[in-house]
Amino acid sequence: MGSEMKKFESKAEFKKNQEVTVTINDLGKDGEGIGHIDGYTLFIKDALPEETVRAKIMKTKKGYGFARLVEIQKKAPGRVVPKCISARACGGCTLQHLSYEEQLRFKEKKVLDCLSRIGEVDLTGVEVLPIFGMENPWHYRNKAQFPVRRGKEGKPVVGFYAGRTHSVIPVTDCAIQSSPMKEILETILVVMEQENIPAYDEETHEGIIRHIFIRKAFATGEIMVCLIINEGFRKFAEQYGEPFRLALTKIEGVTSILVNVNKERTNVIMGTYTKCLWGKETITDYIGKIRYEISAQSFYQVNPLQTEKLYQTALEFAGLTGGETVWDMYCGIGTISLFLASSVGQAGKVLGVEIVPEAVENARKNAALNQLDNVEFFCGAAEDVVGSEEVYNRVGEAGMKADVVVVDPPRKGCDRVLLETICNMAPARIVYVSCDPATLARDVKILGEGRDGVQYEVKKVRACDMFPQGGHVECIVLMSKVK
Ligand code: SAH
Repeated sequence: MGSEMKKFESKAEFKKNQEVTVTINDLGKDGEGIGHIDGYTLFIKDALPEETVRAKIMKTKKGYGFARLVEIQKKAPGRVVPKCISARACGGCTLQHLSYEEQLRFKEKKVLDCLSRIGEVDLTGVEVLPIFGMENPWHYRNKAQFPVRRGKEGKPVVGFYAGRTHSVIPVTDCAIQSSPMKEILETILVVMEQENIPAYDEETHEGIIRHIFIRKAFATGEIMVCLIINEGFRKFAEQYGEPFRLALTKIEGVTSILVNVNKERTNVIMGTYTKCLWGKETITDYIGKIRYEISAQSFYQVNPLQTEKLYQTALEFAGLTGGETVWDMYCGIGTISLFLASSVGQAGKVLGVEIVPEAVENARKNAALNQLDNVEFFCGAAEDVVGSEEVYNRVGEAGMKADVVVVDPPRKGCDRVLLETICNMAPARIVYVSCDPATLARDVKILGEGRDGVQYEVKKVRACDMFPQGGHVECIVLMSKVK
C-alpha cells in the first residue's frame, strides 16, 4: 500500500500542460525517450538517452505519463537530422533521429538487458555475437502498405498515418521503401484522378480504394500490387480494371495485379477475398537457394537481406549434421523449415507447425517446389499440436521427440504449455528466434528452470537489425540442454 500511495502522490505533482525538465535514460518499445522525475516515469517521443529536455505533460496516469518534446537543452551525441522530412509526423520510423551506429548499440543492449534482467541469465558464460547491421540501412523493405484517403479538395492522397492517429500524411517517397514503390503509388493516384475513383472515407464508410499493398521479391524483381477496395470485385474490375492494368503493367517488374475486397468497418487492412486482375496470383522469391511462392496474405519477413542472415544463423545454431529430427514451431510459410530440411538430409526430418491454414498450404507447396520431401507441416496452435495424437498418427514415434527445436513466435512469445512440452521432448538444442526481447527473456527463464530435471541454458545470442530506423528488435538465441 505504501508504494501505491507514493505512486499516487507523485502523480499528483504533475498536471496536464505543465512543463518539466527531465533527463532521458532509456528508449521504449516505440523508440520514445524515457525519463524519471522523483520516481515518476515520463515517455517523451523524439527524445533520446543522454539528453536533458524541456517537455510538456500531455497525459498523466498512475505512476507514469506522456509528454511532448518542447526543447532539447542538452543534445545526445548520437542525434542526427532525419533523412525523411516527414519523420517526426509519420508513425513509421521512430528512430531516424538517432545515428545508425547508436541504433545498433541500443538494440544490442536491449537484448542483453532483457536477458539479464528479465531472464536472469548470467551473461558471463554466454557467447554474444555482434549485432547484424545493414551496410545501407535505407530502402530495405520489400513490403509496403499505404492507406488511401480523401485529401483537400477531394483529391486522393496516399501516405502514412500520423503516429497513433488515423489522419494520413501524404508521402510517396518513403526512405525505407524500395524502388519502384513511389512510381507505383503515384501511378495509382493518377488513375484514380483520371477515372474519378473515390478514395475511402473512414467516417462515412464510402469511397472505393482503402489501401494499397505492394510486395517485391528482391531476388527475382517480381512485384505484386494489391488494391484493397470497399466494393465487389466484379463491379470494380469491369469499371476500372482496364485503366489500372494499362498503367501498372508499364512499370518494370509488376507481375501481379490483385484486388482484395474489404467491405467491413474495421482497422484490419485486408479482407478475406483476393482475386487476380492481371498476371500471377503469387510472386516468387529466393532466400539463399530456397525458392518461395508468396501470396498476398501470407506472413513474409520484410527485410530480405537481413532475413537471410537471420535464417543462416538459425541454421548454424541448430548445428545439424544430417539425420536429425527438427521441429520448426510457428513456421509461417515454411521459410525456416525448408532451410533446415535441406540440411538434415534424407535420413532426417523437419516437422513444422503453424496456426494460419493459408500459410500451411503455402508451406506445403514450397516444400514441393524445392523437392524437399523430408518435411511435414501441421496446422494448429503449436501448444495443442506438438505432442498430440495427430502427430503420433501421422509420423509415428519420431514425431514425439526432437534433436533440435526452433521457435519463432509472434511478439507475445511462446505459450507456457508449449515450453513444458519442449522440455518433455528434451531436444539437445533450442534455437529461439524472437521479435520481442522481453517475452524471449521470460521464456528463456522458464526453459532455464526446466521440467523434471531437463533444463536449458543460454549459450549464444545474436541480434539482427531487421528494422533499421524503427524501434523493434529481432534476435536469436541458442540454448543447450544442461548435462
Ligand atoms: N518462421 C516464420 C514465421 C514467423 S512469424 C518466418 O520466419 O517467416 C510467427 C508465426 O506464428 C506467424 O505465421 C503466425 O501465424 C504464427 N502463430 C501465431 N500463433 C501461433 C500458435 N499459437 N501456434 C502456431 N503458430 C502460431
